[in-house]
Amino acid sequence: MHTVSLHSMVHEVALPDGRRYPIVVGGLQALPEWLDRIGLQRGRCLIVTDENVAALHLDLLRTTLEAFGWLPHALILPAGEETKSLTHLSQIYDAALAWGIDRRTPLLAFGGGVIGDLAGFAAATLLRGLPLVQVPTTLIAQVDSAIGGKTGINHARGKNLIGAFYQPELVYADPTLLLTLPEREWTSGLAEVIKHALIGDADLFAFLEAHWEVIRHRAAELLPQLIAQAMAVKVRVVVQDERESGLRAILNFGHTFGHAIERVAGYGRFTHGEAVALGMLAALWLSHQRHPELPFDRLCSLILKLPIAQPLDGLTFSLLLDAMQVDKKTLASRLRFVLLQALGKAYVTDKVSVGELQAAWQFVLEMRRLAVGT
Ligand code: NAD
Repeated sequence: MHTVSLHSMVHEVALPDGRRYPIVVGGLQALPEWLDRIGLQRGRCLIVTDENVAALHLDLLRTTLEAFGWLPHALILPAGEETKSLTHLSQIYDAALAWGIDRRTPLLAFGGGVIGDLAGFAAATLLRGLPLVQVPTTLIAQVDSAIGGKTGINHARGKNLIGAFYQPELVYADPTLLLTLPEREWTSGLAEVIKHALIGDADLFAFLEAHWEVIRHRAAELLPQLIAQAMAVKVRVVVQDERESGLRAILNFGHTFGHAIERVAGYGRFTHGEAVALGMLAALWLSHQRHPELPFDRLCSLILKLPIAQPLDGLTFSLLLDAMQVDKKTLASRLRFVLLQALGKAYVTDKVSVGELQAAWQFVLEMRRLAVGT
């Protein structure tokens, strides 16, 4: 990572075949300079966003772009996971084509992971590829989903089943946009930041521990460093394994249980990050069984600081196991777990027994019982 000016921090995704793009943490006001710097021609641009982000931040983005000679056209979609659908994809196609885009018209995905994935897929497929600029507005999107080129929509048979790998030309994250995030979305993002620290950056873990109270309350002065350091883990993984043939799977730490929790609870009861946080506790328990030298209590205690209020009612082990098997069947893959051999070092295994899974879930329930004091 290097600092370009006082106001921006920059990474670069440099893929083995020579494709490269910058990842910037900076104020929205400097975005147009970056659009120039990556060689986009000022003119029309299409902004895809959702209603929550539009109400809070679209005016700023629009006026910033206009001040530099851009002609932005915004499409505002409903907020929520249901928007990652064929219906809304079509809506983007219709709006873009009716408005008169050409192959040089950039598409700005201005929102959380839902908008990033959906608009990214639209950019991949419209006129066989428009320049894509990710302007993520949630913590999850800034440190994870906007980086690495996975785009797509959901299908009735499962999440993210239709999509493409399509790298953006630029990822531009403004930390101040996160100040308007609802509290649970912030917590959900922090869970992903902890995940990045666990799988890839012991220093980030120590930073989180040292400044937890301030970070939890979103102190603006720490956000750029937090975001830039968490992004770096994703960048490192993606440049080594763009298409998830191996290493990239470690980003799924906590996700085998996490997805099952979301499915059994019914989507929406837990945020993705809350479910992943609980899944990470289970994954840490499994890791500790194999690697007793892991600082288990230390690692769990940071996760347990996340304020997750949802009760775990109804999340029985047998339902969770069924849900894991469904996921496995849908994706025609084996049940795989990401485990830690040390803080910052993760690996993937399919050698986990049902007995161990049950004990791991028991551990999660016990931790929760202690945390809420029932
Ligand atoms: P999201 O996009 O639904 O955003 C969460 C909520 O926050 C929404 O209601 C949104 O309107 C609101 N919001 C966004 N920015 C805001 C802001 N600045 N202020 C106030 N409210 C704001 O969800 P998410 O958690 O950002 O992303 C989840 C999605 O990301 C899932 O669909 C998941 O599959 C996907 N994802 C993709 C990847 C990838 O590599 N492509 C990785 C992880 C997750």
